Amino acid sequence: MAENYSSATRPVRVRFAPSPTGPLHIGGVRTALYNYLFARRHNGTFILRIEDTDRNRFVPGAEQYIVESLKWLGIHFDEGVVNGGPHAPYRQSERKPMYRQYAEELIKRGNAYYAFDTTEELEAMRKRLEAAKVAAPQYNYITRSSMKNSLTLSEDETKKRLDSGEPYVIRIKIPRNEEVRFHDIIRGWVVVHTQSLDDKVLFKSDGMPTYHLANVVDDYLMQITHVIRGEEWLPSAPLHVLLYRFMGWQDMMPQFAHLSLLLRPDGNGKLSKRDGDRLGFPVFPLDWKDPVTGEKSSGYREQGYFPEAVVNLLAFLGWNPGTTQELFTMEELVETFTLDRVSKHGAKFDPEKARWYNRQYLIRKPNEELADIFLQVVKAKGVPENLVNRDYTAKVCGLIKEKAYFTSDFWDIGGFFYIPPAAYDNSVIQKKWNDHLHSFFAKLKHELDNPSCNFTAQSIEAVIKSLAAESGISPGSVMQPFRVIVTGMAAGPALFETMELLGRDEVVKRIDAGLIRIEASSTT
Ligand code: GLU
Repeated sequence: MAENYSSATRPVRVRFAPSPTGPLHIGGVRTALYNYLFARRHNGTFILRIEDTDRNRFVPGAEQYIVESLKWLGIHFDEGVVNGGPHAPYRQSERKPMYRQYAEELIKRGNAYYAFDTTEELEAMRKRLEAAKVAAPQYNYITRSSMKNSLTLSEDETKKRLDSGEPYVIRIKIPRNEEVRFHDIIRGWVVVHTQSLDDKVLFKSDGMPTYHLANVVDDYLMQITHVIRGEEWLPSAPLHVLLYRFMGWQDMMPQFAHLSLLLRPDGNGKLSKRDGDRLGFPVFPLDWKDPVTGEKSSGYREQGYFPEAVVNLLAFLGWNPGTTQELFTMEELVETFTLDRVSKHGAKFDPEKARWYNRQYLIRKPNEELADIFLQVVKAKGVPENLVNRDYTAKVCGLIKEKAYFTSDFWDIGGFFYIPPAAYDNSVIQKKWNDHLHSFFAKLKHELDNPSCNFTAQSIEAVIKSLAAESGISPGSVMQPFRVIVTGMAAGPALFETMELLGRDEVVKRIDAGLIRIEASSTT
Protein backbone atom coordinates (compact mmCIF):
# COMPACT_ATOMS: atom_id res chain seq x y z
CA MET A 1 0.00 0.00 0.00
CA ALA A 2 1.37 3.41 -0.87
CA GLU A 3 1.63 5.94 1.88
CA ASN A 4 1.21 9.51 0.99
CA TYR A 5 3.39 11.87 2.94
CA SER A 6 2.90 14.77 0.62
CA SER A 7 3.25 17.25 3.47
CA ALA A 8 6.81 16.07 3.76
CA THR A 9 8.16 17.43 0.55
CA ARG A 10 11.61 17.04 2.05
CA PRO A 11 13.55 13.81 1.67
CA VAL A 12 12.68 11.46 4.52
CA ARG A 13 15.06 11.69 7.48
CA VAL A 14 14.31 9.79 10.66
CA ARG A 15 16.29 9.16 13.80
CA PHE A 16 16.54 6.73 16.65
CA ALA A 17 17.50 8.77 19.66
CA PRO A 18 18.08 6.56 22.70
CA SER A 19 19.43 7.76 26.02
CA PRO A 20 22.32 5.62 27.26
CA THR A 21 20.71 4.90 30.61
CA GLY A 22 20.99 1.11 30.50
CA PRO A 23 20.49 -1.79 28.13
CA LEU A 24 18.12 -1.21 25.24
CA HIS A 25 14.73 -2.77 25.92
CA ILE A 26 13.09 -4.68 23.04
CA GLY A 27 10.46 -1.94 22.90
CA GLY A 28 13.31 0.42 21.99
CA VAL A 29 14.61 -2.06 19.46
CA ARG A 30 11.17 -2.13 17.86
CA THR A 31 11.19 1.68 17.66
CA ALA A 32 14.59 1.54 15.93
CA LEU A 33 13.33 -1.15 13.56
CA TYR A 34 10.21 0.78 12.55
CA ASN A 35 12.31 3.89 11.91
CA TYR A 36 14.72 1.83 9.84
CA LEU A 37 11.97 0.21 7.78
CA PHE A 38 10.30 3.54 7.22
CA ALA A 39 13.56 5.17 6.11
CA ARG A 40 14.41 2.34 3.73
CA ARG A 41 10.97 2.21 2.23
CA HIS A 42 11.05 5.91 1.47
CA ASN A 43 14.68 5.95 0.34
CA GLY A 44 15.35 8.12 3.32
CA THR A 45 18.15 8.53 5.81
CA PHE A 46 18.29 6.84 9.19
CA ILE A 47 20.24 8.51 11.98
CA LEU A 48 21.49 7.28 15.35
CA ARG A 49 21.65 10.13 17.83
CA ILE A 50 22.66 9.56 21.42
CA GLU A 51 20.69 11.68 23.88
CA ASP A 52 22.99 11.83 26.85
CA THR A 53 22.27 15.23 28.33
CA ASP A 54 21.13 13.77 31.61
CA ARG A 55 24.50 12.92 33.08
CA ASN A 56 22.97 11.58 36.29
CA ARG A 57 21.37 8.74 34.40
CA PHE A 58 24.36 7.99 32.21
CA VAL A 59 25.41 4.33 32.33
CA PRO A 60 28.82 3.35 31.00
CA GLY A 61 28.64 0.76 28.25
CA ALA A 62 25.02 1.50 27.37
CA GLU A 63 25.85 3.25 24.09
CA GLN A 64 28.10 0.39 22.96
CA TYR A 65 25.33 -2.01 23.91
CA ILE A 66 22.84 -0.12 21.75
CA VAL A 67 25.21 -0.04 18.79
CA GLU A 68 26.09 -3.71 19.07
CA SER A 69 22.46 -4.78 19.46
CA LEU A 70 21.30 -2.98 16.37
CA LYS A 71 24.26 -4.19 14.37
CA TRP A 72 23.50 -7.77 15.38
CA LEU A 73 19.93 -7.32 14.17
CA GLY A 74 20.95 -5.81 10.83
CA ILE A 75 19.41 -2.42 11.62
CA HIS A 76 21.93 -0.15 9.95
CA PHE A 77 22.36 3.58 10.19
CA ASP A 78 23.33 6.07 7.50
CA GLU A 79 24.44 8.79 9.90
CA GLY A 80 25.17 8.87 13.58
CA VAL A 81 27.60 8.22 16.36
CA VAL A 82 29.19 5.32 14.50
CA ASN A 83 29.31 6.54 10.90
CA GLY A 84 29.44 10.29 11.45
CA GLY A 85 27.73 12.46 8.84
CA PRO A 86 26.97 16.05 7.84
CA HIS A 87 25.41 16.91 11.20
CA ALA A 88 28.15 15.51 13.44
CA PRO A 89 28.61 15.28 16.33
CA TYR A 90 25.64 12.98 16.99
CA ARG A 91 26.15 12.65 20.73
CA GLN A 92 24.32 15.46 22.51
CA SER A 93 26.93 15.89 25.22
CA GLU A 94 29.35 16.79 22.43
CA ARG A 95 26.87 19.27 20.99
CA LYS A 96 26.57 21.09 24.31
CA PRO A 97 27.72 24.53 23.07
CA MET A 98 25.00 24.59 20.38
CA TYR A 99 21.98 24.71 22.64
CA ARG A 100 22.42 27.86 24.73
CA GLN A 101 21.66 30.23 21.86
CA TYR A 102 18.24 28.62 21.34
CA ALA A 103 17.34 28.84 25.01
CA GLU A 104 18.36 32.52 24.98
CA GLU A 105 16.44 33.11 21.77
CA LEU A 106 13.32 31.74 23.44
CA ILE A 107 13.82 34.18 26.34
CA LYS A 108 14.23 37.04 23.91
CA ARG A 109 11.00 36.05 22.21
CA GLY A 110 9.18 35.98 25.54
CA ASN A 111 8.60 32.23 25.42
CA ALA A 112 10.99 31.25 28.17
CA TYR A 113 12.34 32.71 31.39
CA TYR A 114 15.08 32.33 33.97
CA ALA A 115 14.11 30.69 37.24
CA PHE A 116 16.26 30.81 40.39
CA ASP A 117 14.18 28.73 42.77
CA THR A 118 16.17 26.47 45.03
CA THR A 119 15.30 22.85 45.65
CA GLU A 120 13.88 23.86 49.04
CA GLU A 121 11.71 26.56 47.50
CA LEU A 122 10.38 24.14 44.92
CA GLU A 123 9.67 21.62 47.64
CA ALA A 124 7.88 24.28 49.70
CA MET A 125 5.70 25.14 46.71
CA ARG A 126 4.82 21.50 46.24
CA LYS A 127 3.83 21.18 49.89
CA ARG A 128 1.79 24.36 49.75
CA LEU A 129 -0.13 23.13 46.74
CA GLU A 130 -0.65 19.71 48.22
CA ALA A 131 -2.03 21.29 51.37
CA ALA A 132 -4.41 23.27 49.16
CA LYS A 133 -5.51 19.92 47.64
CA VAL A 134 -4.06 20.59 44.23
CA ALA A 135 -3.91 17.14 42.63
CA ALA A 136 -0.75 17.57 40.57
CA PRO A 137 1.44 20.40 41.88
CA GLN A 138 3.29 21.98 38.98
CA TYR A 139 5.44 24.93 38.06
CA ASN A 140 2.95 26.37 35.59
CA TYR A 141 1.04 29.37 34.31
CA ILE A 142 -0.42 29.96 37.78
CA THR A 143 2.38 29.10 40.17
CA ARG A 144 5.16 30.78 38.20
CA SER A 145 3.79 34.17 39.28
CA SER A 146 4.67 33.42 42.91
CA MET A 147 8.12 31.95 42.32
CA LYS A 148 11.57 33.43 41.97
CA ASN A 149 12.03 33.96 38.24
CA SER A 150 12.63 36.61 35.63
CA LEU A 151 8.86 37.07 35.28
CA THR A 152 8.49 38.09 38.92
CA LEU A 153 11.87 39.70 39.56
CA SER A 154 12.90 43.05 38.10
CA GLU A 155 15.22 43.10 35.11
CA ASP A 156 18.01 44.48 37.30
CA GLU A 157 17.55 41.85 39.92
CA THR A 158 17.58 39.10 37.29
CA LYS A 159 20.73 40.48 35.76
CA LYS A 160 22.38 40.78 39.13
CA ARG A 161 21.66 37.17 39.97
CA LEU A 162 22.89 35.97 36.59
CA ASP A 163 26.07 38.07 36.82
CA SER A 164 26.82 36.79 40.29
CA GLY A 165 26.72 33.24 38.96
CA GLU A 166 23.66 32.15 40.89
CA PRO A 167 22.42 28.79 39.62
CA TYR A 168 19.36 29.03 37.40
CA VAL A 169 17.29 27.09 34.95
CA ILE A 170 15.50 28.30 31.86
CA ARG A 171 11.86 27.28 31.75
CA ILE A 172 9.43 27.34 28.86
CA LYS A 173 6.59 29.82 29.35
CA ILE A 174 3.55 27.75 28.50
CA PRO A 175 0.72 29.96 27.19
CA ARG A 176 -2.20 30.31 29.57
CA ASN A 177 -5.17 29.39 27.56
CA GLU A 178 -4.60 27.66 24.28
CA GLU A 179 -5.16 24.40 22.55
CA VAL A 180 -2.17 22.67 21.07
CA ARG A 181 -3.09 20.40 18.18
CA PHE A 182 -1.05 18.12 16.07
CA HIS A 183 -1.71 15.18 13.82
CA ASP A 184 -0.15 11.91 14.85
CA ILE A 185 0.19 9.38 12.03
CA ILE A 186 -0.86 6.53 14.31
CA ARG A 187 -3.29 8.26 16.66
CA GLY A 188 -4.89 10.90 14.46
CA TRP A 189 -5.52 14.36 15.89
CA VAL A 190 -4.16 15.01 19.35
CA VAL A 191 -5.49 18.06 21.15
CA VAL A 192 -4.09 19.20 24.47
CA HIS A 193 -5.02 22.28 26.46
CA THR A 194 -2.05 24.28 27.70
CA GLN A 195 -3.56 24.40 31.18
CA SER A 196 -2.52 20.80 31.61
CA LEU A 197 1.11 21.51 30.71
CA ASP A 198 3.85 22.67 33.06
CA ASP A 199 6.72 25.05 32.48
CA LYS A 200 9.32 22.39 31.82
CA VAL A 201 12.99 23.13 32.33
CA LEU A 202 14.74 23.55 28.98
CA PHE A 203 18.23 24.51 30.05
CA LYS A 204 20.38 24.45 33.17
CA SER A 205 23.08 26.84 34.31
CA ASP A 206 25.71 24.14 33.90
CA GLY A 207 25.17 24.71 30.19
CA MET A 208 23.33 21.46 29.60
CA PRO A 209 20.00 21.50 27.80
CA THR A 210 17.32 19.11 29.02
CA TYR A 211 15.91 16.39 26.84
CA HIS A 212 13.11 18.60 25.48
CA LEU A 213 15.26 21.41 24.17
CA ALA A 214 18.07 19.25 22.88
CA ASN A 215 15.65 16.86 21.22
CA VAL A 216 13.74 19.56 19.35
CA VAL A 217 16.82 21.60 18.41
CA ASP A 218 18.55 18.52 17.06
CA ASP A 219 15.51 17.29 15.16
CA TYR A 220 15.37 20.74 13.58
CA LEU A 221 19.08 20.98 12.81
CA MET A 222 19.21 17.42 11.52
CA GLN A 223 16.17 18.12 9.33
CA ILE A 224 14.17 15.26 10.72
CA THR A 225 10.93 14.75 8.80
CA HIS A 226 9.25 12.07 10.95
CA VAL A 227 9.55 11.42 14.65
CA ILE A 228 8.67 7.78 15.23
CA ARG A 229 9.00 6.97 18.94
CA GLY A 230 7.39 5.27 21.88
CA GLU A 231 4.06 6.28 23.37
CA GLU A 232 5.78 7.38 26.59
CA TRP A 233 6.81 10.52 24.70
CA LEU A 234 3.29 11.45 23.63
CA PRO A 235 2.77 13.71 26.69
CA SER A 236 5.93 15.63 25.67
CA ALA A 237 4.80 16.16 22.10
CA PRO A 238 2.61 19.26 22.75
CA LEU A 239 5.61 20.93 24.39
CA HIS A 240 7.72 20.05 21.36
CA VAL A 241 5.06 21.43 19.02
CA LEU A 242 5.08 24.67 21.01
CA LEU A 243 8.86 24.88 20.76
CA TYR A 244 8.66 24.59 16.97
CA ARG A 245 6.13 27.36 16.96
CA PHE A 246 8.03 29.62 19.35
CA MET A 247 11.21 29.26 17.33
CA GLY A 248 9.38 29.95 14.08
CA TRP A 249 10.25 26.53 12.75
CA GLN A 250 6.73 25.39 11.85
CA ASP A 251 7.76 24.56 8.28
CA MET A 252 10.35 22.20 9.64
CA MET A 253 8.11 20.50 12.13
CA PRO A 254 8.33 16.72 11.70
CA GLN A 255 5.29 14.48 11.55
CA PHE A 256 4.81 12.50 14.72
CA ALA A 257 4.08 8.79 15.04
CA HIS A 258 3.81 7.52 18.61
CA LEU A 259 4.03 3.74 18.87
CA SER A 260 1.92 1.91 21.40
CA LEU A 261 3.45 0.04 24.30
CA LEU A 262 4.59 -3.54 24.42
CA LEU A 263 2.47 -5.30 27.02
CA ARG A 264 3.07 -8.27 29.27
CA PRO A 265 1.87 -11.63 27.91
CA ASP A 266 -1.31 -11.40 30.02
CA GLY A 267 -1.97 -7.91 28.69
CA ASN A 268 -1.66 -6.56 32.21
CA GLY A 269 0.55 -3.54 31.96
CA LYS A 270 3.69 -2.53 30.21
CA LEU A 271 6.43 -5.06 29.52
CA SER A 272 9.08 -3.73 31.82
CA LYS A 273 12.79 -4.29 32.05
CA ARG A 274 12.28 -6.55 35.04
CA ASP A 275 9.62 -8.74 33.48
CA GLY A 276 11.87 -10.72 31.19
CA ASP A 277 13.87 -12.87 33.51
CA ARG A 278 10.96 -12.95 35.95
CA LEU A 279 8.57 -14.37 33.35
CA GLY A 280 11.18 -16.54 31.66
CA PHE A 281 11.98 -14.80 28.40
CA PRO A 282 14.44 -12.08 27.44
CA VAL A 283 13.37 -8.46 27.09
CA PHE A 284 16.79 -7.34 25.89
CA PRO A 285 18.53 -8.09 22.61
CA LEU A 286 21.85 -9.08 24.21
CA ASP A 287 22.98 -10.18 27.64
CA TRP A 288 23.68 -7.26 29.94
CA LYS A 289 25.50 -6.92 33.19
CA ASP A 290 24.80 -3.78 35.15
CA PRO A 291 28.15 -2.07 35.72
CA VAL A 292 27.15 -0.88 39.19
CA THR A 293 24.97 -3.57 40.71
CA GLY A 294 26.41 -6.45 38.70
CA GLU A 295 22.83 -7.61 38.04
CA LYS A 296 22.55 -9.73 34.91
CA SER A 297 19.78 -9.73 32.35
CA SER A 298 19.53 -12.21 29.54
CA GLY A 299 19.39 -11.37 25.86
CA TYR A 300 17.91 -12.91 22.75
CA ARG A 301 21.30 -13.46 21.13
CA GLU A 302 22.69 -15.51 23.98
CA GLN A 303 19.44 -17.43 24.35
CA GLY A 304 20.04 -18.74 20.84
CA TYR A 305 17.65 -16.61 18.82
CA PHE A 306 18.55 -15.78 15.25
CA PRO A 307 18.60 -12.06 14.51
CA GLU A 308 16.20 -12.57 11.58
CA ALA A 309 13.69 -14.18 13.92
CA VAL A 310 13.94 -11.34 16.42
CA VAL A 311 13.45 -8.75 13.68
CA ASN A 312 10.45 -10.65 12.35
CA LEU A 313 8.80 -11.07 15.73
CA LEU A 314 9.38 -7.46 16.72
CA ALA A 315 7.98 -6.21 13.41
CA PHE A 316 4.78 -8.06 14.25
CA LEU A 317 4.47 -6.57 17.72
CA GLY A 318 2.23 -3.70 16.79
CA TRP A 319 2.18 -4.06 13.01
CA ASN A 320 0.70 -6.53 10.59
CA PRO A 321 0.78 -6.71 6.81
CA GLY A 322 -2.98 -7.25 6.48
CA THR A 323 -2.40 -10.71 5.00
CA THR A 324 -1.78 -14.13 6.55
CA GLN A 325 1.93 -14.07 5.78
CA GLU A 326 3.91 -14.20 9.00
CA LEU A 327 7.47 -14.73 7.86
CA PHE A 328 9.21 -11.70 6.46
CA THR A 329 12.84 -11.11 5.70
CA MET A 330 14.17 -7.63 6.35
CA GLU A 331 13.89 -6.89 2.60
CA GLU A 332 10.27 -8.02 2.55
CA LEU A 333 9.53 -5.89 5.61
CA VAL A 334 11.06 -2.87 3.88
CA GLU A 335 8.75 -3.47 0.91
CA THR A 336 5.66 -4.05 3.02
CA PHE A 337 5.95 -1.93 6.15
CA THR A 338 3.70 1.11 6.40
CA LEU A 339 2.88 3.23 9.42
CA ASP A 340 -0.81 3.13 8.60
CA ARG A 341 -0.83 -0.55 9.53
CA VAL A 342 0.74 0.12 12.92
CA SER A 343 -1.80 -0.43 15.66
CA LYS A 344 -2.61 2.22 18.21
CA HIS A 345 -3.37 -0.49 20.77
CA GLY A 346 -0.74 -2.06 22.98
CA ALA A 347 0.83 -5.25 21.62
CA LYS A 348 0.94 -8.25 23.95
CA PHE A 349 4.26 -10.01 23.99
CA ASP A 350 3.82 -13.73 23.34
CA PRO A 351 6.89 -15.76 24.37
CA GLU A 352 5.55 -18.92 22.67
CA LYS A 353 5.22 -17.03 19.43
CA ALA A 354 8.76 -15.76 19.82
CA ARG A 355 10.00 -19.34 20.06
CA TRP A 356 7.84 -20.28 17.10
CA TYR A 357 9.51 -17.59 15.03
CA ASN A 358 12.91 -18.92 15.91
CA ARG A 359 11.90 -22.43 14.93
CA GLN A 360 10.71 -21.20 11.55
CA TYR A 361 14.09 -19.64 10.87
CA LEU A 362 15.90 -22.66 12.27
CA ILE A 363 14.04 -24.99 9.90
CA ARG A 364 14.90 -22.78 6.96
CA LYS A 365 18.61 -22.55 7.73
CA PRO A 366 20.90 -24.57 5.45
CA ASN A 367 22.00 -27.77 7.20
CA GLU A 368 25.66 -26.97 6.65
CA GLU A 369 25.29 -23.66 8.48
CA LEU A 370 23.62 -25.40 11.40
CA ALA A 371 26.30 -28.08 11.34
CA ASP A 372 28.98 -25.46 11.88
CA ILE A 373 27.19 -24.32 15.01
CA PHE A 374 26.35 -27.80 16.28
CA LEU A 375 29.84 -29.17 15.66
CA GLN A 376 31.14 -26.94 18.41
CA VAL A 377 28.84 -28.71 20.85
CA VAL A 378 29.59 -32.13 19.41
CA LYS A 379 33.34 -31.57 19.81
CA ALA A 380 32.92 -30.46 23.38
CA LYS A 381 31.05 -33.68 24.20
CA GLY A 382 34.09 -35.83 23.46
CA VAL A 383 32.51 -37.69 20.57
CA PRO A 384 34.59 -40.26 18.56
CA GLU A 385 36.78 -38.41 16.06
CA ASN A 386 35.18 -40.00 12.95
CA LEU A 387 31.79 -38.52 13.90
CA VAL A 388 33.08 -34.99 14.34
CA ASN A 389 32.32 -34.59 10.69
CA ARG A 390 30.60 -31.74 8.86
CA ASP A 391 28.78 -33.84 6.25
CA TYR A 392 27.45 -36.27 8.80
CA THR A 393 26.50 -33.46 11.18
CA ALA A 394 24.75 -31.56 8.39
CA LYS A 395 22.62 -34.64 7.76
CA VAL A 396 21.92 -34.95 11.48
CA CYS A 397 20.86 -31.28 11.57
CA GLY A 398 18.58 -31.85 8.59
CA LEU A 399 16.78 -34.57 10.53
CA ILE A 400 16.56 -32.97 13.95
CA LYS A 401 15.95 -29.30 13.23
CA GLU A 402 12.19 -29.74 12.86
CA LYS A 403 12.10 -30.93 16.44
CA ALA A 404 14.05 -27.99 17.86
CA TYR A 405 13.49 -24.33 18.67
CA PHE A 406 17.15 -23.45 19.10
CA THR A 407 20.43 -25.01 18.07
CA SER A 408 21.05 -25.45 21.78
CA ASP A 409 18.25 -28.05 21.76
CA PHE A 410 20.16 -30.15 19.22
CA TRP A 411 22.25 -32.20 21.61
CA ASP A 412 19.27 -33.32 23.67
CA ILE A 413 17.36 -34.27 20.55
CA GLY A 414 20.17 -35.76 18.50
CA GLY A 415 23.05 -36.63 20.82
CA PHE A 416 22.30 -40.31 20.10
CA PHE A 417 23.65 -39.82 16.58
CA TYR A 418 27.06 -39.57 18.23
CA ILE A 419 26.84 -41.59 21.41
CA PRO A 420 24.68 -44.70 21.96
CA PRO A 421 21.95 -44.22 24.54
CA ALA A 422 23.12 -44.80 28.10
CA ALA A 423 19.55 -45.39 29.24
CA TYR A 424 16.13 -46.02 27.76
CA ASP A 425 12.85 -44.27 28.13
CA ASN A 426 11.60 -46.93 30.48
CA SER A 427 7.94 -46.08 30.31
CA VAL A 428 7.89 -47.42 26.75
CA ILE A 429 9.84 -50.57 27.55
CA GLN A 430 7.75 -51.36 30.61
CA LYS A 431 4.51 -50.77 28.82
CA LYS A 432 5.25 -52.40 25.50
CA TRP A 433 8.00 -54.96 25.85
CA ASN A 434 7.15 -58.68 25.76
CA ASP A 435 8.60 -61.99 24.56
CA HIS A 436 7.15 -61.54 21.09
CA LEU A 437 8.98 -58.27 20.75
CA HIS A 438 12.14 -59.83 21.99
CA SER A 439 12.16 -62.47 19.30
CA PHE A 440 10.97 -59.92 16.75
CA PHE A 441 14.01 -57.72 17.35
CA ALA A 442 16.34 -60.69 17.36
CA LYS A 443 15.05 -61.56 13.88
CA LEU A 444 15.06 -57.96 12.77
CA LYS A 445 18.68 -57.66 13.69
CA HIS A 446 19.54 -60.56 11.41
CA GLU A 447 17.52 -59.20 8.51
CA LEU A 448 19.04 -55.74 8.78
CA ASP A 449 22.47 -57.24 9.03
CA ASN A 450 21.91 -59.10 5.77
CA PRO A 451 23.56 -57.34 2.80
CA SER A 452 20.44 -58.02 0.72
CA CYS A 453 18.89 -55.17 2.70
CA ASN A 454 20.60 -52.09 1.31
CA PHE A 455 19.84 -50.15 4.47
CA THR A 456 17.97 -47.18 3.06
CA ALA A 457 15.04 -45.70 4.96
CA GLN A 458 12.72 -47.38 2.50
CA SER A 459 14.26 -50.84 2.74
CA ILE A 460 14.40 -50.68 6.53
CA GLU A 461 10.72 -49.84 6.59
CA ALA A 462 9.94 -52.66 4.16
CA VAL A 463 11.90 -55.19 6.27
CA ILE A 464 10.08 -54.18 9.44
CA LYS A 465 6.68 -54.36 7.83
CA SER A 466 7.15 -57.74 6.27
CA LEU A 467 8.73 -59.16 9.40
CA ALA A 468 5.89 -57.82 11.51
CA ALA A 469 3.34 -59.39 9.16
CA GLU A 470 5.19 -62.70 9.32
CA SER A 471 5.31 -62.58 13.11
CA GLY A 472 1.67 -61.65 13.39
CA ILE A 473 2.24 -58.36 15.20
CA SER A 474 1.17 -54.94 14.08
CA PRO A 475 3.97 -52.77 12.66
CA GLY A 476 2.68 -49.95 14.85
CA SER A 477 3.54 -51.81 18.05
CA VAL A 478 7.22 -52.23 17.13
CA MET A 479 8.07 -48.73 15.95
CA GLN A 480 8.35 -47.05 19.32
CA PRO A 481 10.34 -49.84 21.00
CA PHE A 482 12.63 -49.81 17.94
CA ARG A 483 13.20 -46.10 18.43
CA VAL A 484 13.85 -46.51 22.13
CA ILE A 485 16.38 -49.32 21.63
CA VAL A 486 18.32 -47.30 19.08
CA THR A 487 17.97 -43.74 20.36
CA GLY A 488 16.96 -44.16 24.00
CA MET A 489 13.95 -41.88 23.50
CA ALA A 490 10.26 -42.35 22.92
CA ALA A 491 10.04 -39.61 20.31
CA GLY A 492 12.37 -37.95 17.89
CA PRO A 493 13.17 -37.35 14.24
CA ALA A 494 11.85 -39.48 11.34
CA LEU A 495 12.51 -43.07 12.40
CA PHE A 496 13.68 -44.79 9.22
CA GLU A 497 15.79 -41.85 8.04
CA THR A 498 17.38 -41.83 11.49
CA MET A 499 18.30 -45.51 11.13
CA GLU A 500 19.68 -44.99 7.65
CA LEU A 501 21.91 -42.18 8.82
CA LEU A 502 23.16 -44.10 11.85
CA GLY A 503 24.11 -46.89 9.48
CA ARG A 504 23.78 -50.62 9.50
CA ASP A 505 26.63 -51.46 11.87
CA GLU A 506 25.58 -48.99 14.50
CA VAL A 507 21.90 -49.94 14.39
CA VAL A 508 22.66 -53.63 14.58
CA LYS A 509 25.04 -53.05 17.46
CA ARG A 510 22.42 -51.04 19.32
CA ILE A 511 19.70 -53.67 18.81
CA ASP A 512 22.07 -56.26 20.20
CA ALA A 513 22.96 -54.13 23.16
CA GLY A 514 19.29 -53.36 23.73
CA LEU A 515 18.23 -56.99 23.79
CA ILE A 516 20.91 -57.79 26.31
CA ARG A 517 20.14 -54.80 28.48
CA ILE A 518 16.38 -55.35 28.52
CA GLU A 519 16.85 -59.05 29.15
CA ALA A 520 19.17 -58.28 32.05
CA SER A 521 16.84 -55.75 33.60
CA SER A 522 13.80 -58.04 33.33
CA THR A 523 15.57 -60.91 35.11
CA THR A 524 16.78 -58.78 37.99
N1 GLU B 1 15.98 10.16 24.29
C1 GLU B 1 14.62 9.74 24.18
C2 GLU B 1 14.57 8.27 24.60
O1 GLU B 1 15.39 7.87 25.32
C3 GLU B 1 14.15 9.94 22.77
C4 GLU B 1 12.71 10.20 22.60
C5 GLU B 1 12.44 10.67 21.20
O2 GLU B 1 12.62 9.83 20.28
O3 GLU B 1 12.12 11.82 21.00
O4 GLU B 1 13.73 7.50 24.23
